[in-house]
Amino acid sequence: MALQFFNTLANKKEDFVPIKEGEVRLYTCGPTVYNHAHIGNFRAYIFEDLLRRHLKFKGYKVEQVMNLTDIDDKTIKGCKAQGVSLDEYTRPFKDAFFEDIDTLKIERAEHYPEATTHIPEMVEIIKKLVANGLAYEIKGNYYFKIDAFPTYGKLARIDLAGLKAGARIATDEYEKESVSDFALWKAWSEEDGTVFWETELGKGRPGWHLECSAMSMKYLGQHFDMHTGGIDNKFPHHENEIAQSEGASGEKFVNYWMHCAHLIVEGKKMSKSVGNFFTLREILEKGYSASAIRYLLLATQYRMSLNFTFDGLDAAAKSLQRLNDFWRNLEEFAGAGEGGEANAVSEKAAREFEKGLDDDLNISYALAAVFDFIREINRLRSENNLTADERDTALDVLKRINSVLDFKVEEAAVENESEIEDLVQKRADAKKNRDFATADSIRDQLTAMGIVLEDTPQGVKWRKKV
Ligand code: AMP
Ligand code: ZN
Repeated sequence: MALQFFNTLANKKEDFVPIKEGEVRLYTCGPTVYNHAHIGNFRAYIFEDLLRRHLKFKGYKVEQVMNLTDIDDKTIKGCKAQGVSLDEYTRPFKDAFFEDIDTLKIERAEHYPEATTHIPEMVEIIKKLVANGLAYEIKGNYYFKIDAFPTYGKLARIDLAGLKAGARIATDEYEKESVSDFALWKAWSEEDGTVFWETELGKGRPGWHLECSAMSMKYLGQHFDMHTGGIDNKFPHHENEIAQSEGASGEKFVNYWMHCAHLIVEGKKMSKSVGNFFTLREILEKGYSASAIRYLLLATQYRMSLNFTFDGLDAAAKSLQRLNDFWRNLEEFAGAGEGGEANAVSEKAAREFEKGLDDDLNISYALAAVFDFIREINRLRSENNLTADERDTALDVLKRINSVLDFKVEEAAVENESEIEDLVQKRADAKKNRDFATADSIRDQLTAMGIVLEDTPQGVKWRKKV
């Protein structure tokens, strides 16, 4: 089956055909650096990580740009409130963002351009739009004239019938109901404080939407393959990007638009403005591992809403443990028996995993294939019917899968090994004496120490929780 993605622009699943064979140029809207990113934002970045890694798994060379939105209404408000420069205000959030994506094992993009260093490119676009009759100026503000751009609304499928010609909006974010001419450039006003650029257009600053048009086309060209973001970005942000980019270049901007559904909390989008958010750091402080958070955000297909709960996170941690235990046990297995069945199981797992992700990143299908694989190989292992060669083939498949999911957790060093060995032995003795109360309480004690036990035919094994 061909690689397929749901393209918001076409409103259906389509075969993926890159512009240049073997290469994918991908733009992913990045963080607005006015605060720490919350795990809702990371749902979008993890979806994009899966997309990127699967494209690479399929053999594509990926050129990805993720911008940092360091100029918008929110960053300006923030720096003004603190009485610091825009750069001083945003710098710690930029640094924190890179720390967080490393913590979540999100692969780095090829480029992370910042809006503040791309003002000339933005001015150029506005000049082209004015020349093309698609932008106009009022008191130093430049607006995009949407009724001069007949295909406006094609991405978000909005009906422009009710549009009031000439109605204008200056804020960066707005609802479909208020669709209007939007600001490309805002003349300096008191509330911008120290944030402004002196340009050919006068003293002012760009609108948020323009930033992404400028930074995507600069690094990826006027026409590129894919553009992604959370579904909240579809309108007005992405609609406006299309209008600005196509209006300036005269070319099609992007072939495939992909949007992930929201991470929600009790029915509402996780967002800073609602206040129902957790940052990555807050969840780590509660004792959850970054790998479990990564797994949770990865394990629901990106077009389905994901309801965040701590029970869900516990379940994700369990699945992750199972994957990691499987890997380690397999590595430690010396090989036994005649074999003959395992390679077909491994090949099937590899095939089905790829088939799932080829189908619009159907991670549920792909993960089901992985857990079937685990079950079958574990069965063969316990039946002593898995040779060393077959084990290696299974491990190779697991490594390939891990290049996409990145679930493998490096085992942390254990300092109190002898204490743990001692407790494990005491528990075994208690069980032998049918003193189950003591055995259970020792298990609890070990759990509290972050140690998990596994009863195997070769005796009790213990390891540190992932
Ligand atoms: P922002 O920093 O608000 O510009 O958002 C950065 C990225 O996170 C964008 O792609 C948003 O669409 C996405 N995003 C924001 N909130 C959520 C959420 N609750 N669930 C999924 N994605 C989100
Ligand atoms: Zn953007």
